[in-house]
Parts: sequence; structure tokens; C-alpha cells
Amino acid sequence: MKLRKCAKCNNYTLKNKCPKCNEKTSDAHYKFSKIKNVSN
Ligand SMILES: [Zn+2]
Repeated sequence: MKLRKCAKCNNYTLKNKCPKCNEKTSDAHYKFSKIKNVSN
């Protein structure tokens, strides 16, 4: 699944168009925290 984000209303969606304002969405790059470096 690709998470996308509307640049207009900042709504997250999986569709190419925002369901709220019908604006074209762009890829939202999810950043995961580096939990591998935690030694606990
Ligand atoms: Zn929108």
C-alpha cells in the first residue's frame, strides 16, 4: 500500500485524489525511527 497525502488539506489517503477536496495527492514518505540502534 502506498500512503499519499493531499497538499491542499494535508489529508492522508491511499487514492490518487483527495476524497475531501478532490485535489491530486502526492506520495507521503513514511519515516520510521531507527529502533535497531536501541540496545534495550
Ligand atoms: Zn485534500
